[in-house]
Amino acid sequence: MADSTADGVERRLPTDEARELLALVRDIARREIAPRAAEEEAEGRFPRELFALLSRSGLLGLPYDPGYGGGGQPYEVYLQVLEELAAARLTVGLGVSVHTLACHALAGFGTEAQRAAHLPAMLGGGLLGAYCLSEPSAGSDAAALRTRAVREGEGDWVIDGTKAWITHGGIADFCTVMARTGGPGARGITAFLVPGDAPGLSAAPPERKMGMRGSPTAQLHFDGVRVADDRRLGAEGQGFAIALGALDSGRLGIAACAVGLARAALDEAVAYARERRQFGRPIADFQGLRFLLADMATKVEAGRALYLEAARLRDEGRSFGRCAAMAKLFCTDAAMQVTTDAVQVLGGYGYTADFPVERYLREAKMLQIVEGTNQIQRVVIARHLVGPESR
Ligand SMILES: Cc1cc2nc3c(=O)[nH]c(=O)nc-3n(C[C@H](O)[C@H](O)[C@H](O)COP(=O)(O)OP(=O)(O)OC[C@H]3O[C@@H](n4cnc5c(N)ncnc54)[C@H](O)[C@@H]3O)c2cc1C
Repeated sequence: MADSTADGVERRLPTDEARELLALVRDIARREIAPRAAEEEAEGRFPRELFALLSRSGLLGLPYDPGYGGGGQPYEVYLQVLEELAAARLTVGLGVSVHTLACHALAGFGTEAQRAAHLPAMLGGGLLGAYCLSEPSAGSDAAALRTRAVREGEGDWVIDGTKAWITHGGIADFCTVMARTGGPGARGITAFLVPGDAPGLSAAPPERKMGMRGSPTAQLHFDGVRVADDRRLGAEGQGFAIALGALDSGRLGIAACAVGLARAALDEAVAYARERRQFGRPIADFQGLRFLLADMATKVEAGRALYLEAARLRDEGRSFGRCAAMAKLFCTDAAMQVTTDAVQVLGGYGYTADFPVERYLREAKMLQIVEGTNQIQRVVIARHLVGPESR
């Protein structure tokens, strides 16, 4: 199924339904998302009402089971939707990706009763999720996390600790939280589904970030937060494996968002190069810029091919973690380079807030850090190549 997109590139889509879905997303992106992006990012305003619209349009649960309100779409299609959203505004693409990540533990490891109770509202009922793994002293080494959940006899769990860098921290309706229930290391961690308004749960003021100002990132404090045992997801001690499994898929979302951002930067650069004249000619005539634009376009295409390859492996039920780490690494490094080059193509104007490319450059940096820094992606890829490090 061929599909000619806004960037004029032919795409292969598996079904007519997928083609119609992408057309709907492009329409929402063009009418509702892109026109407000610059102003709201400058103001640091999170577009909550846009997420309500995305939920009503069935876009907040795309890769999940339709029996629980999901869209039943393959990852290959879901990721191309994310690319479109991120090309219009990264905050929105990333927000959908993080929400999807936050639903992963319940969808994959919840009991039938847990899924029936919570998933429909999470996938299509207007709720927004947060994924809470990182802590102030446990980032790349997430298995060292200290937030503790202690069970009172056969009763509730009581959670105490601090989570750091939480996207949607303070505004999320539900939080998927990894907490220590056993001894040190990865095997002592359990996953919980915590309501965003649980007594004892509070958020610090949002971090003041280089970019992505419309996407709140905050510390979350758990001070005696009580949850019943039916909010434990998976077995005790299974939480870290659940968290890493979610991240394998989540990294593909980051890769797709990176390609969307890079594509937006490329489009700006091409339009400007055609328009701007120096030495009596459009600057697009100069081979120095033509080659730069050609390299930028090649990175966008190569990134898309890599995330789609990983997505197709996942859709076929095959092992995709190595390819997902490569996609996250390549696509986010490509986004950093392409957005930097887009600023160069625009010259002095590229360095001002009058054009979006300076914002794109600031946003791209974040993608190299989240959901495992790009150093950690290399650690993961190398483990697949040569096995674990000896100590
Ligand atoms: C905007 C934003 C949003 C975020 N959203 C979320 C969220 O929603 N949920 C969540 O749980 N977390 C979130 N994070 C946290 C993010 O996942 C962490 O920042 C990231 O995992 C890195 O952890 P750290 O910042 O503690 O850096 P550190 O782990 O302290 O790393 C510092 C540096 O050391 C390098 N390094 C560390 N270990 C190694 C190693 N073994 N080999 C080579 N280099 C290494 C790193 O690559 C990095 O360059 C977010 C972060 C940001 C900036």
